[in-house]
Amino acid sequence: MNSDDSPDHINDSRPPEHASGAQSRRGFLQRSGTGMAALLMAGASGPALAAAATPGAPNSVKLPLIQDPNTEPAENTPDPNAEPDRRVGYAIVGLGRLSLNQILPALSASKYSRVVALVSGDAEKAKKIGRQYGVRESAIYTYQTYEKLADNPEVQVVYIVLPNGMHAEYTIRAAAIGKHVLCEKPMAVSSAECQRMIEACKKANRLLMIAYRSQYEPMDRMIAKWVKEKQLGPLHEFIAGNSQNVGDPTQWRLKLALAGGGPLPDVGIYCLNAARFLSGEEPFEVFATTYKPDDDPRFKEVEQSVQFLLRFPSGLTATCMASYASHESRFFRLQGAQGWAEMNPAFGYNGLQLRKGQLVEGKNAQIQIGIDPVDQFAREIDHMSLCVVRGQTPHTPGEEGLQDQRIVEAIYESARTRRAVKIAVPAGPTRGPDPDEENF
Ligand code: NAD
Repeated sequence: MNSDDSPDHINDSRPPEHASGAQSRRGFLQRSGTGMAALLMAGASGPALAAAATPGAPNSVKLPLIQDPNTEPAENTPDPNAEPDRRVGYAIVGLGRLSLNQILPALSASKYSRVVALVSGDAEKAKKIGRQYGVRESAIYTYQTYEKLADNPEVQVVYIVLPNGMHAEYTIRAAAIGKHVLCEKPMAVSSAECQRMIEACKKANRLLMIAYRSQYEPMDRMIAKWVKEKQLGPLHEFIAGNSQNVGDPTQWRLKLALAGGGPLPDVGIYCLNAARFLSGEEPFEVFATTYKPDDDPRFKEVEQSVQFLLRFPSGLTATCMASYASHESRFFRLQGAQGWAEMNPAFGYNGLQLRKGQLVEGKNAQIQIGIDPVDQFAREIDHMSLCVVRGQTPHTPGEEGLQDQRIVEAIYESARTRRAVKIAVPAGPTRGPDPDEENF
């Protein structure tokens, strides 16, 4: 079992915030520094749900900070007010929806990072976007002139935002010209490709980070912290779903060679990665099914939906599903003997909601935690920049993406063979040091 079985934890019915009774039952809880706020609600066996803070009542209790902001910033932390040209420079490769709608705006909102080059198949589009973000025309490249990035010293990191089947090639080419790589999820379309990417970056002595933005998102991080502190007790079940109804049947996401699969590598990977990250455990076995209808032109090459059950050494199971044919739905719940944590919606760029259930003074209670909008992309990009400045392994390096890909392959094998499939447990840790929490 992965739990701490000490009686202290088993019988501890205080909320994690260690609020006093009056405050804990009806408290508007505020977490300074991150803009996090929580509403503690008594459950079915307690008084009616508290709708809001009671005027005049002691209603402000601070949630514990993940890390005290008064502590000295870690060594080699750049000044967030540094001149823009002293920030870590990025080349964005692929100017599709994610780059235009999330990554480029996030770079503008980042502390340590800036965009200095663009790589696109459409030079006119790239020039136009370059003008918008202050990228010089001389720093616009095509897929054919990609290697010329080597001559641009402003580019320290290449951020690969291409279809999944192109990640390996563009990572390996970037490492070969001496650039660090931030690569979108899923890392690649096979574990052999993932291994080649890791080896190429290692050989070139360059960093490789996979853009698992949820691992930099404060609510997800708070749940992982609760788990580490055994606040939920021994973990038993994780349940998760990530679905969307895809349209255009000609898009690359429905082509096996470019996507590596259907909803599993695209959106199901969020469920899979959350199960591993939040629990801090590695699954050793999976049982899975996929479904592909005969009469839907969208699903000629890839599955419409996938369901998989992961087994973890402590006895925890993760029951996950992902679909490309259902209305948008993103959620998870992690259940332990002493409490549960639920995000619904989960995995999105914004609008996330976190609830926690536990016993408070012998009664079932729920804490709802809200948070000011944060830019997950800016956080993950800034983490990469700090790793470049410090020469430090990223929190989500290539090894993290490789393990997910191995599990993706085991899931497909299980669905094909209709048998449980063993998953090789990684030889060493798949994650680097935690990101600096004061940056969150
Ligand atoms: P998109 O289709 O909007 O953009 C893909 C880009 O690649 C386009 O600019 C396209 O022109 C270019 N491209 C180059 N060669 C291509 C080819 N042969 N076929 C198709 N496109 C080609 O896709 P997107 O939604 O921006 O996704 C890009 C990557 O980002 C994917 O790996 C995806 O999984 C990932 N992604 C991550 C998140 C996240 O939240 N982290 C969200 C969305 C997408």
